[in-house]
Amino acid sequence: MTTAAQLENLHHKTQDFISSPRKMLVNGQWTTSASGKTFDTLDPSTGGVIVQVAEGDKEDIDRAVSAARAAFEDGPWPSMNPTARERCMHKLADLMEENADILAELEALDNGKNVAIARAVDIQVAIDYIRYMAGWPTKIMGNILPLSVPYAPDAKFLGYTLKEPVGVVGQIIPWNFPTLMCAWKLGVALASGCTTVLKPAEETPLTALYIGELVCQAGFPDGVVNIIPGYGHTAGAALTTHKQVDKIAFTGSTEVGKIIVKAAADTMKNVSMELGGKSPAIILPDADLDIAIPGAASAIFFNQGQVCCAGSRLFVPDSLYDQVIEGLAEAANAMKIGPGLNPDNMVNPLVSQIQYDRVMGYIDSGRAEGADIVAGGKRRGDKGYFIEPTILGNTNRDMKVVREEIFGPVVCVQRYNDVDDIAKLANDTIYGLGASIWTKDVSNIINIVPKIRAGTVWVNCHNILDVAMPFGGYKQSGFGKDMGKEALDSYLETKSVCIMA
Ligand code: NAP
Ligand code: MG
Repeated sequence: MTTAAQLENLHHKTQDFISSPRKMLVNGQWTTSASGKTFDTLDPSTGGVIVQVAEGDKEDIDRAVSAARAAFEDGPWPSMNPTARERCMHKLADLMEENADILAELEALDNGKNVAIARAVDIQVAIDYIRYMAGWPTKIMGNILPLSVPYAPDAKFLGYTLKEPVGVVGQIIPWNFPTLMCAWKLGVALASGCTTVLKPAEETPLTALYIGELVCQAGFPDGVVNIIPGYGHTAGAALTTHKQVDKIAFTGSTEVGKIIVKAAADTMKNVSMELGGKSPAIILPDADLDIAIPGAASAIFFNQGQVCCAGSRLFVPDSLYDQVIEGLAEAANAMKIGPGLNPDNMVNPLVSQIQYDRVMGYIDSGRAEGADIVAGGKRRGDKGYFIEPTILGNTNRDMKVVREEIFGPVVCVQRYNDVDDIAKLANDTIYGLGASIWTKDVSNIINIVPKIRAGTVWVNCHNILDVAMPFGGYKQSGFGKDMGKEALDSYLETKSVCIMA
């Protein structure tokens, strides 16, 4: 169990929330699963059980999709004025803000991450995003079309487009930023007028369920938002093949993304995929190392490296290699390791035993393939899933640790000689999510940015995401965008209307 001392210091609302088994949200009601089954959600800092959660399966997905379908076809949601939809969304954001400390505590408990960072980053950006998206319903519009129709020269036509919600959306999210991913998905679905069935990751269902409580208080019509915790191969899979689901929005691994694209093809669903990455951080020879070294450290160690766009391949010019490695090791060794409920701890546990084993396996593989273990490489403590921030030096393109996504606090440092080759080296991956370059020279920026095949390129920073900035992948990092105006594109159908006078 989570220790009594940990619980004692939590807000009473957080304590209440984890004091009894959590149910699922279907059609505005909190219900147990049809099978009666539950699963445990665990505290990664101890491996102990936090609370039991209803385990959704196909039957629960069927009920939730029916509710979402009815809310879309017949409910008040699609016919509600844009301003009324906006008000509901602003109310949800206000409630999230009022309960931000509780959301941060639940996130720290369930995912393991630092509670202060969760409050300042995960929860705040989630609130900001719901507000950002709440601004859109009154601004989604089509166009007037200048028609010619050459084969009807004597007729007059008026052509225009309508933007309409795609329908019922199945949204499947991962465990690394549970509140933020939930907000990214709900925000755009609600703004576009869709209804949703959301499946949080089995490792971290609590904040999505808490947001479900707030959705109920915010006054959304029943069935607009349904939340079904459960496993991917059961509840998730049932969503991806359901005939009444129009779109699947998925964030998770490329491996599972491929399974979902195939599953959704049978019913030709609209699909958007935010997948894995192996993002390069490139220090150029003229970089300001006082910025680049701490920047490269935070690019990989933030959130224990469990970040899809983490700077996991660090490219360093030969001439700067020793200096960068030394600075990076100093930064890694200075990070305090421990449970996320203590905000001083900057390195927290990985989310699960599975993730711990996976990351340790990669560190062993790097060692076996000849990488230098410059810092870290070991477990910390005898309970919980803590791994030291780890630097693998002198890695090369053929190593498994360089080719595959590790999704942990492990950076692979590669040397390079020639700046002219750097874009090629950076692009030498199946992924294309993010990249950063560190330089003071504007001509480097102008030359290199267009050559990088990635959805986001940062200059002198990394992992900066903003509600107004579209985020998504190239190549096997997926397609479709979260955030920014472009997030709406894949949630809207365009209907052309042609009227003959
Ligand atoms: P995952 O294993 O792909 O799981 C993601 C979600 O998919 C979970 O809810 C999972 O359920 C569900 N799922 C698994 N198999 C499924 C199936 N056959 N059908 C339908 N749903 C299924 O990924 P993860 O380990 O949770 O998250 C880490 C990955 O997410 C990394 O690769 C990371 O790069 C990526 N990610 C990408 C972005 C982005 O925006 N591009 C953001 C964050 C994370 P369970 O609960 O049973 O696992
Ligand atoms: Mg958990």
